[in-house]
Amino acid sequence: MKVEEAFEIVEAAYTSKRMPHAYLVVGSPRGEGLDLAEKTAALLLCEAADVKHPCLRCDDCLNVQEHKHSDTFWLEPESKSRVITMEDVRETLLPWAAKSSYAGGWKIGIMLFADRLNDNSGNAFLKMLEEPPEETLFLLVTSSPDSLLPTVISRCQRLDLNVGRTPPAEPWRSEVGKIMADHSNTSALRVMSTSGRMVSLFDDIKKESEKSAKERLKQILEMDMEVDDDTYNAWISAGAKEIRAAVFESIRDWYRDVMVLSSTGGETDGIPLFFPEYKDATTAAAERTNPQRAVQNITFVDNMERQVEVRNMREDLVFPYWFTWLR
Ligand SMILES: [Zn+2]
Repeated sequence: MKVEEAFEIVEAAYTSKRMPHAYLVVGSPRGEGLDLAEKTAALLLCEAADVKHPCLRCDDCLNVQEHKHSDTFWLEPESKSRVITMEDVRETLLPWAAKSSYAGGWKIGIMLFADRLNDNSGNAFLKMLEEPPEETLFLLVTSSPDSLLPTVISRCQRLDLNVGRTPPAEPWRSEVGKIMADHSNTSALRVMSTSGRMVSLFDDIKKESEKSAKERLKQILEMDMEVDDDTYNAWISAGAKEIRAAVFESIRDWYRDVMVLSSTGGETDGIPLFFPEYKDATTAAAERTNPQRAVQNITFVDNMERQVEVRNMREDLVFPYWFTWLR
């Protein structure tokens, strides 16, 4: 849904005094997700009394937009580690949550790139959310909600801003199509082949990300500015992570096709396929499975992504395991 539509939901909750303790905002933490977070914080903090809409002109509204309102708390991973650590949560967020607000009203904790919570920091946050402080709203903004702990997700009301998903960047998507078309879990050799090709695809993603970081660095140096190693490395890993997210989404899309074909007995009933060019391969995969089992494939891809992105497990160990199950 659009930001405006999501905001209407928030406004309705607010005016009817049914605010949840936390929203999971699925959208870019630098784009529409951030936009919704700022609007929501302004709504709760705007000093113009009895408003349904924040005025966006008063000191409170302006301070919210500049991320310096005393009743807001902004947390995002440091560029160095790209992780929201246990320390971040325990030593900054939790003490803030325990204090009462300055103005005597709401306070809002905003976590950008919430998918960068690891198991420890995620659990510490969760524990607090189980006994949430009064008049405190948390906004978890992320474009990769699948990397979050399911227990955290279940505690949040979800606002999905991904208006009609944009297809993942080429050429990665086509590569995924080619690999998946040859995949079959009926022999160990095939599984090894699929995994090996995926691992080398991930190596290519890293190289591609290094290439674009190098270009970005060149531009910055030309402007007589400097970039430290940590920032440079953060660019590479963030760039690679973004492409990998698109690759995992493509694998899920593949299995969404299998799911549709499996539940309709090979007919799509007008439902558009993500990989129409590989309909023969997805139909064959659908024939080897059943609708229930087809749904599981998607969960398996989620697990695979979590192991790689959150647990930082090696791809050459993760892929062979899950591709044995993916059919
Ligand atoms: Zn205002």
